[in-house]
Amino acid sequence: MSLSNSLTSLNRASSMSDSIFSVDIDDNLKSTFKNIPQMTNEELIESIEKCKNLIADSEEMSIERKWLIRKLVELRFHQVQKTAKIPEKIVSELSVNSHDFRPQKGAPSKRTFCDFCTNCIWIFQQCFTCIHCFYNAHAKCIKHVNRLCAHVTVCEKGQPEIRICPEIGLSLQLYRCAECRLPLMNKQFYLEPRKCHYSGLYFCKTCHWNNYSIVPANIVHNWDFEQRPVSRIALQEINLFYERPVIKLEQINPKLFVFIAKLGTVKTKRLQLIEMKRYLDVCKFALKEKLVDKTIGKRRYLVEGIDFYSIYDLVCVENVSMFDYLSGIIGIFKNHIMNCEICHGHGYICEYCGDKTPIFPFNDGIYKCENCNNCFHRQCITGVRRECSKCIRLKEKKNLTNENKTVENS
Ligand SMILES: [Zn+2]
Ligand SMILES: [Zn+2]
Ligand SMILES: [Zn+2]
Ligand SMILES: [Zn+2]
Ligand SMILES: [Zn+2]
Ligand SMILES: [Zn+2]
Repeated sequence: MSLSNSLTSLNRASSMSDSIFSVDIDDNLKSTFKNIPQMTNEELIESIEKCKNLIADSEEMSIERKWLIRKLVELRFHQVQKTAKIPEKIVSELSVNSHDFRPQKGAPSKRTFCDFCTNCIWIFQQCFTCIHCFYNAHAKCIKHVNRLCAHVTVCEKGQPEIRICPEIGLSLQLYRCAECRLPLMNKQFYLEPRKCHYSGLYFCKTCHWNNYSIVPANIVHNWDFEQRPVSRIALQEINLFYERPVIKLEQINPKLFVFIAKLGTVKTKRLQLIEMKRYLDVCKFALKEKLVDKTIGKRRYLVEGIDFYSIYDLVCVENVSMFDYLSGIIGIFKNHIMNCEICHGHGYICEYCGDKTPIFPFNDGIYKCENCNNCFHRQCITGVRRECSKCIRLKEKKNLTNENKTVENS
């Protein structure tokens, strides 16, 4: 593989982002990320942080965000190169269209096929794998790879395709493969076009290997986990999205929570965990012990809100492992709160029955006032006494001050 060739392909990836988007990008922003290849390691680390913050502040799907994501890829690429002290020549040869290829160590555990030429990568041949999207290729094929790294498309899109098989039809695709543009039909031959059930597009057999996968859109709309044929690029995308909590399920399809009892139960458990986490967030013992982090790690979003689900979460809801997982965490959190002097001291006493045993909003049979967070036994607040006693007190106090003010003013 010639160096000049690969350097052009690397530059193509980065300059492509410049040429596509730069017209709409602010000059100040452009100058912030100028001369990336010349940056020192420290400057690169600093710029990566800056770029990440700018991405978080940018508008979803905006041109600015896309431009920033490509800059981030470029910055990371140069940073990895600087820290690993890999000679520039080798690194640039292994970087094509934002992929970052690395030689696989040892023999592959199972038969591996080249994503570019679709042939087997034999044990005596070196297999190169992209560290971001796991695209595999022969050494000789790397320089020809034309698919943009799925990691970049995943970052740009933000969430998987949630329209069910959004087909445009072969004619609008001009009877060509959606990826490599190979003609799929002409007078002399007919190359069985393969439909991707994720993107709805048709592909040639080099770009679509009849891999089967669950399709997020079918889950989100129909709670359907059947595996369907998808293209290579779709498979890589689904795999990269798999554990990312980016699906706002209830917002997309609220009815699902009515019809799928398992989802309703999971939502209740998450609400319970959110209440528990409020105690753990202000308890010095729990903080010192890093209880929340240790228990839930990178799935922390499950106890920070009820909006987001990953594809993996939905699979876990369906096979009920999510139920057991959340029940386990509830057990651990509850055990801490009940046995910790700080947390237990923050329990409520039901003002209606006066029972001295502290009650907590996450317990069963407890009613929590939406206004003032005061808690009661559910059986104590039903019937005649429908209003929260604390709220009644606050209201009376407010009325009294208002009356006093009127007397003073008159
Ligand atoms: Zn890649
Ligand atoms: Zn190959
Ligand atoms: Zn193709
Ligand atoms: Zn505590
Ligand atoms: Zn009570
Ligand atoms: Zn209240």
